[in-house]
Amino acid sequence: MAAPEVRSGFTALYGAAPDGIWSAPGRVNLIGEHTDYNDGFVMPFALPHTAVAAVSRRDDGVLRLHSADTDGGVVELRVDELSPLSDREWTAYPAGVVWALREAGHLVTGADVHLASAVPAGAGLSSSAALEVVVALALNDLFGLGLEPGQLARLCQRAENVYVGAPTGIMDQTASACCEEGHALFLDTRDLARRQIPFDLAAEGMRLLVVDTRVKHAHNEGEYGKRRAGCEKGAALLGVDALRDVPHDGLDDALARLDDEEVRRLVRHVVTEDRRVERVVALLESGDTRAIGPVLTEGHASLRDDFRVSCRELDLVVESALAAGALGARMTGGGFGGSAIVLVEAADAGTVTKAVEEAFAAAGFTAPRVFEAVPSPGARRLS
Ligand code: ADP
Ligand code: MG
Repeated sequence: MAAPEVRSGFTALYGAAPDGIWSAPGRVNLIGEHTDYNDGFVMPFALPHTAVAAVSRRDDGVLRLHSADTDGGVVELRVDELSPLSDREWTAYPAGVVWALREAGHLVTGADVHLASAVPAGAGLSSSAALEVVVALALNDLFGLGLEPGQLARLCQRAENVYVGAPTGIMDQTASACCEEGHALFLDTRDLARRQIPFDLAAEGMRLLVVDTRVKHAHNEGEYGKRRAGCEKGAALLGVDALRDVPHDGLDDALARLDDEEVRRLVRHVVTEDRRVERVVALLESGDTRAIGPVLTEGHASLRDDFRVSCRELDLVVESALAAGALGARMTGGGFGGSAIVLVEAADAGTVTKAVEEAFAAAGFTAPRVFEAVPSPGARRLS
């Protein structure tokens, strides 16, 4: 929904015009999957799809929340009564941001919020981070908090981890808060150093397609926890703080020291994936953009065979897209459903899309949603 509708929606709900309008995007991760809780590298970029929020400041301790995309009415809370894990609804995301800001000592005394989002929820495109970051940025501006985008991202992560209760890394919130148009964001999740890497596919005659499989397999949270625990076990067995500390040229030695086949596979994925992020950065910086295709495809094989977080639908996107001439393809996000990305020559976008759709129809799967992802701006004030 566009900003003017969100503005008029706010006015209709609350009886006065908002203090301002902000937006924050969803994201796709180009490469660097399941590395963020191993202190490793990720490389997301922002989608053109955003959450848009109209917000007014309040000074009476009241927080009112409304989403144009849910059936419920306005939810009214008191900022001094917010407590972690108390809310199972969507309102936990924005309320969690208020809680995290106040916990960090920032005097946020209430707000009226009306929002709408074009980021598909639950598709692995980080609709939750968009929601958090748009509210955090609005409050940062309205209360003059002076926080940098990276700091806002950390507070949003805390909101999601502690208040909502979802164990996520720092990538999603950082991407939504810090990405720049025409760039991918190279993020070191250990020291949170960020580098904007030019990523303008259109200028080079290519496109990046996002294929939302529209499936989310139910066991994904438990499996995420198992992978995380397995990675921690691997780091402990190898005597390092995090798998990020296993150098790529020391991988064979490290694997030789591990007896547990399950842990070996997890370690191999994380170490080779960090290396793939570095390779993609180097290729993009040297202008050899087409050469990232095979690196993306390698990343998929590693997630499928070693980390084992893919599923039939994601594998089918990759197989059918490559068979139809795509330059590279891989699942993106946590896995077990969600979305895949496909790099194609611009001229092949239609044929590849059709091939994926036909493969899904032939397999009896729900039709996927395919759209082009153009690296877009991060969170910002619109008016
Ligand atoms: P993802 O971040 O991959 O989209 P999550 O499960 O982390 O998936 O977040 C999805 C949740 O975010 C939804 O279940 C809902 O609670 C919330 N959400 C996302 N978009 C909206 C929206 N437009 N309005 C209200 N809640 C939303
Ligand atoms: Mg999320």
